[in-house]
Amino acid sequence: MYKHRQFKDRFDAVDLDPYGTAAPFLDAAVQCVKDGGLLMITCTDMAILCGNGVEACHAKYGSVSAKMSCCHEMALRIVLRSIESHANRYGRYIVPLISLSADFYIRLFVRIFTSPSTVKESVTKLSMVYTCNGCKSFHLQPLGNRLVTTLGQKYIPSVGPPVNKNCDICGYTFKISGPIWSYRLHDKEFITKIVENLNKEIDLYGTSKRMLGILTVMLEELDDCPLFHKYEDLSSILHVTSPSITEIRSAILNAGYKVSISHAAPTSVKTDAPQNVIWDVMRAWANLHPGKKTMELDVSKTIMSKKSSIEVSFEPHTEAEPSSRKNNLLRFQINPTRNWGPKCKATSSVNQNNEEKQSRKSKRKKRNQTNNVENKKSKEEENDMAS
Ligand SMILES: [Zn+2]
Repeated sequence: MYKHRQFKDRFDAVDLDPYGTAAPFLDAAVQCVKDGGLLMITCTDMAILCGNGVEACHAKYGSVSAKMSCCHEMALRIVLRSIESHANRYGRYIVPLISLSADFYIRLFVRIFTSPSTVKESVTKLSMVYTCNGCKSFHLQPLGNRLVTTLGQKYIPSVGPPVNKNCDICGYTFKISGPIWSYRLHDKEFITKIVENLNKEIDLYGTSKRMLGILTVMLEELDDCPLFHKYEDLSSILHVTSPSITEIRSAILNAGYKVSISHAAPTSVKTDAPQNVIWDVMRAWANLHPGKKTMELDVSKTIMSKKSSIEVSFEPHTEAEPSSRKNNLLRFQINPTRNWGPKCKATSSVNQNNEEKQSRKSKRKKRNQTNNVENKKSKEEENDMAS
């Protein structure tokens, strides 16, 4: 890839599919793709991207990962930020077409363009994430803002932090992760075209139904609302039974906010509603369906003691059921077999060792055999001499 950095030698498309992280190849990859060309990247090192090994994630991708309900979307956004950062060094920027989290890996399809003036906007597309240690509320802190004046535009650092020292909802402290890519994950126009083509030729691919399901969910995903909660995680903080997806979606829609799911988790709630509104909804649910421990434990007790800022209604909303669910599309595939997933890493080094061991063993055997023969011979000679 480094040999094809020159303008004339660049590739239309590059597909990085290493076993594990793609991080070592990003610098070369962003330089060898044509202007408007396609870069495809697979990463399977989900453990470090999802919050195990914060230091390893920082070393590889330049961001701090976090254990959150939405860790798979965080993983996508961490890698996107890393690609963008590598591209920016060469006056280039990325436009994500599809950002997919599936099974045990993430796969990104991004286009690479050259434009030093657009590279300046990068700082507005990245954010740090504040996550509450108690109620798991999250808040985004953009790294920079664009300021438009009569003299033109300039980029300034944003004002922060977006939260108080302690969480307004539960009183706990925050942990900080990121920076992440907080801009669009998909190009919906591009996905619409794929869906149209798939519908025309549904029998062409063995995985058409799955592709159709997941791409439709991506089309339904809210563009401008990074990250999400899982409703069962919200319920477990309050120690109550979970509302159904239709009930929680209806409550958010009735309050006047948008809501969708994420393709990264079947029980996700992605919304533009502020975190306190989400907790107003959950508080109203807990009041209707109290759990045994709701008023005993620290976080839930504090949340339940707060007053609601809105009137919550669980009245069924017409848009509460996403069309992908109504149409019964294959949205989230169940693993085909038990313990399905990546197997052990290819063990060429171990094989080498085995081969070396084997050859050493056979050499030793030969040497011993020769020694034995020689010893035998010399003994016979000694015997002859003696006789
Ligand atoms: Zn909190």
